[in-house]
Amino acid sequence: MVVGSGPAGGTAARYAARRGLRVLLLDKRKEIGVPVQCGEYVAANEEVRTIFPTLTDLEDLMEAPYRVRQIDTPVIRIWTPRGRHYDIPFRGFTVARDRMDQGIARQAVDEGADLMTETAVTRVRGKEVVTNHGTFEGKVVIGADGPRSTTARSVGLQWPVSAPAMSATAHGTFGDETDMFFGNLAPGGYAWIIPKGDCANVGLGTWQHFRGNLRSLYDRFVRERKFEAGKATGGYVPVMGPVDRTVKGNVLLVGDAAGHVMATNGGGINVSMICGRIAGDVSADHVLSGTPLVEYERRWRAAVGGPLAEGVRIKALADRFFGNDRLLEAAMLLLGRRRMGRAIRCQRIFLGPRAKAL
Ligand SMILES: Cc1cc2nc3c(=O)[nH]c(=O)nc-3n(C[C@H](O)[C@H](O)[C@H](O)COP(=O)(O)OP(=O)(O)OC[C@H]3O[C@@H](n4cnc5c(N)ncnc54)[C@H](O)[C@@H]3O)c2cc1C
Repeated sequence: MVVGSGPAGGTAARYAARRGLRVLLLDKRKEIGVPVQCGEYVAANEEVRTIFPTLTDLEDLMEAPYRVRQIDTPVIRIWTPRGRHYDIPFRGFTVARDRMDQGIARQAVDEGADLMTETAVTRVRGKEVVTNHGTFEGKVVIGADGPRSTTARSVGLQWPVSAPAMSATAHGTFGDETDMFFGNLAPGGYAWIIPKGDCANVGLGTWQHFRGNLRSLYDRFVRERKFEAGKATGGYVPVMGPVDRTVKGNVLLVGDAAGHVMATNGGGINVSMICGRIAGDVSADHVLSGTPLVEYERRWRAAVGGPLAEGVRIKALADRFFGNDRLLEAAMLLLGRRRMGRAIRCQRIFLGPRAKAL
């Protein structure tokens, strides 16, 4: 049983079904992926391989995002509070996120999973999953229901630390670089312009230095840059990495529900899908040959835990400078382009011991 058909849940369902399991994929939304609450940026497989070198078969995993690829963006342009910028070569692409999530769910269905939309899970109790359309039973329950996971709450697992973000589509002409703006325009986080061809995804996220109203910050960003932006949508982004425990009894947490996000850039699509595949595979190993479910926790930490931990360490360091534009400007100057590139990739920026995998 998979709760939530975002990138994490859809992927988990796809790989579990591929191994022959009977899989039920539930989502409360009427239409998968709608409304879009995302910057719609995906890291290219070449980058993902650099960051998480043990991964294999990314082409199969990432088939759906690549199918709805819009434009390639070869550079991340990082802006300081005073308007200096650093161009970091980083290969990514943009997607229509609603079509991407729908594509992943379709792959799961093509492998044999059953999908039920408009089905909100209200409680998980052991093998029982209680919804507005009745109660279902699953040998394994995968909670892929986002940062405010009902599944996690029901079984007493922790929610990841998360922070609000919002974005919209702006029409106009944009280059192919992805802009990230740091400073008090988005305290503790950053604002972005992610190009999508004849439009861009524009938005911002904040973190603990911000005590006001996110909407007013967002409106100011849009107004000052004279964007013709459509309706904004928002959500929460896990900002301090994975939770301590992602397995309890027959329940696994994956994606945002587990905090599977790179803390230095807020990106969760790639990691959610990587961990979704592991969740689907371990569920199949468990049902078909009795592998203990804690194996899931071991495997995802081995695959992505090190860089995610490094990302949290860098983010915690950056938090000392966020909130004060003068200090932040100086810190970014000191860091320089090369170290910024490492930070974005959740790689060590100073010599010293590696962060222990979270
Ligand atoms: C404004 C914003 C911009 C972002 N930009 C980017 C970006 O550009 N690139 C990137 O990589 N990441 C980005 N992220 C993060 C990224 O969106 C998430 O990391 C990613 O969606 C995680 O996938 P998921 O499957 O875990 O969760 P989700 O995509 O949130 O999917 C969870 C699913 O569970 C369903 N659900 C929730 N509760 C229930 C319930 N009780 N019962 C049934 N179904 C339920 C929801 O309807 C949803 O379909 C952004 C996040 C935000 C908020």
